[in-house]
Amino acid sequence: MLVLGLETSCDETGLALFDSEKGLLGQVLHSQIALHAEYGGVVPELASRDHVRKMIPLLETLLSQTQTKKSDLDAIAFTRGPGLMGALMTGALFGRTLAFALDIPAIGVHHMEGHLLAPLLSEAPPEFPFVALLVSGGHSQLMAAYGIGQYELLGESIDDAAGEAFDKVAKMMNLPYPGGPNVAKLAESGDPQAFNLPRPMLHQGLDFSFSGMKTAVLNQYKKIEGQGRDADLAASFQEAMVDTLVKKCVRALKQTGLKRLVIAGGVSANQALRTRLQEELKRIAAKVYYAEPALCTDNGAMIAFAGWQRLKAGQHDELAVTTTPRWPMTELDIPRQE
Ligand code: ATP
Ligand code: MG
Ligand code: FE
Repeated sequence: MLVLGLETSCDETGLALFDSEKGLLGQVLHSQIALHAEYGGVVPELASRDHVRKMIPLLETLLSQTQTKKSDLDAIAFTRGPGLMGALMTGALFGRTLAFALDIPAIGVHHMEGHLLAPLLSEAPPEFPFVALLVSGGHSQLMAAYGIGQYELLGESIDDAAGEAFDKVAKMMNLPYPGGPNVAKLAESGDPQAFNLPRPMLHQGLDFSFSGMKTAVLNQYKKIEGQGRDADLAASFQEAMVDTLVKKCVRALKQTGLKRLVIAGGVSANQALRTRLQEELKRIAAKVYYAEPALCTDNGAMIAFAGWQRLKAGQHDELAVTTTPRWPMTELDIPRQE
């Protein structure tokens, strides 16, 4: 089955073709970073309009790159939520309409289920059940995943998301958006022990809090501004973040008795986090799984793949176009057969 995946939940237009026999055939991505740069954040209306502009040219590119015709498509998966309403509508309308014209099924996919399942596209994919750490620009959650659609929330951030904290720290240090990769790069040349930053809620349960950590970085930054110690502060912040995430992951594994950890979402691309998890999980005979960096941040491949997981069980949407800007992952249904 050949599935076209469309991702338009925020500021990336991502399209991909997933073949159930051959795997991922190809993907294209257009990021709107430059478009929103002068406003200091994503402007929803500009995002929607740009998705509309890019969708058809990107589809043409994808089809020619993979030497595929529209008529080869068997199904279309698009992001139904969560995300920006207008941005979601563009992908949902485009996907639903194209599927109608081609007389093939369409399915609306949960963006975070897409992130969660992306590591299953790797060469040695994890098997269910596993603990999932979802860390992206808008979410920080620990889930127990028992199968497709069978997700139990173990803990989540009570304030900022992990990626959001990276982005805000980058902004205060005058690093370009998206902050994560830039903070991580700067941190490479810094001393992670230089500043002792707080690690809120470290010894307490499976919830996270990153807002205090971010404020502590701001206070520290004001003291050292212009002293050439930015790399030390970036490294110390990343260390506090990694400490917290790793500790909670280990606690979640112990609590559930599970031995597999899947990390997903943009922050899961962070090399310091990956390295530390590998070391720490070895101690408790557990294993960490993640996607290749390009599949950690938003992309069409994860949507095509998550869509296929449901399509192969016979699930698909009706003709009405539905978007769900707020959509807890724990409300997803379980496909009848897997
Ligand atoms: P959501 O998926 O919650 O709706 P989103 O789609 O904006 O939010 P993603 O695309 O999954 O989020 O990830 C983007 C986030 O990941 C940004 O906050 C970015 O700073 C962060 N990020 C990307 N690479 C890294 C990295 N190497 N280290 C830390 N953070 C990173
Ligand atoms: Mg984005
Ligand atoms: Fe995302």
